[in-house]
Amino acid sequence: MGKIIAVANQKGGVGKTTTSVNLSACLATLGQKVLLIDIDPQGNATSGVGINKADIRYCIYDVLINDIDPMDAIIPTDVTNLFVLPASIQLAGAEIELVPTISREVRLKRAIESIRDKYDYVFIDCPPSLGILTVNSLTASDSVLVPIQCEFYALEGVSQLLNTIRLVQKHLNTSLQIEGILLTMLDARTNLGIQVIEEVKKYFREKVYQAIIPRNIRLSEAPSHGQSIIKYDARSRGAEVYMELAREVLEIGKTVR
Ligand code: ADP
Ligand code: MG
Repeated sequence: MGKIIAVANQKGGVGKTTTSVNLSACLATLGQKVLLIDIDPQGNATSGVGINKADIRYCIYDVLINDIDPMDAIIPTDVTNLFVLPASIQLAGAEIELVPTISREVRLKRAIESIRDKYDYVFIDCPPSLGILTVNSLTASDSVLVPIQCEFYALEGVSQLLNTIRLVQKHLNTSLQIEGILLTMLDARTNLGIQVIEEVKKYFREKVYQAIIPRNIRLSEAPSHGQSIIKYDARSRGAEVYMELAREVLEIGKTVR
């Protein structure tokens, strides 16, 4: 059965989308069949894998609000084995539209339950908030991967996220686990990065991935070309480390942590 992993952190700009897109693409390159679900109204993961708005017939909004079959919304990408369930700006209204609906927190879970068997991995790129879309994602997932940026206030806000995870575990998804903590945007030229790594490791211990994503210009350029790093520059340091991360995720999947 496919594993569903939410990529979440309510802080913006920590590398959720970059990680969702590139980890998905790397796992697909390693032969895994991967579905990337974009549940952020900004739709950066959708455009990041080269999907044009004009090519989108149905998006995640239609799945959540209009009960459209997710298989009718999923589209292939230019990476073999990588598929995307796209988002569009329509989704911005979903936070409000979902409020009065029945079983609003379990809509995504119910919608994708029947399709998880078709994939080895499903990644959900969450928006930068702890609202109803993120709660839907955590409820639908087996585990959550948390990117943390190597900067001074790295752990700020993390306790809020952990609190939300605990609430979801208590009320909506008792089997939700922490998949891993990913350190991102490390600037190797500063000592600050090293301090942050130590601090985060002290807090999360073995949950922190050995792969640490460096600041890499190619990673920041790739989205404007609508390409994952695998297509844009497979030889870049960014591609290498996301590939290391993909191997680590596969290894962890074989063992029980
Ligand atoms: P989030 O989805 O958490 O808001 P993004 O993945 O969109 O964060 O990243 C925020 C910005 O930082 C984007 O412009 C992205 O291209 C850039 N970025 C992300 N990771 C890296 C990295 N490792 N090196 C350089 N730029 C990065
Ligand atoms: Mg994002």
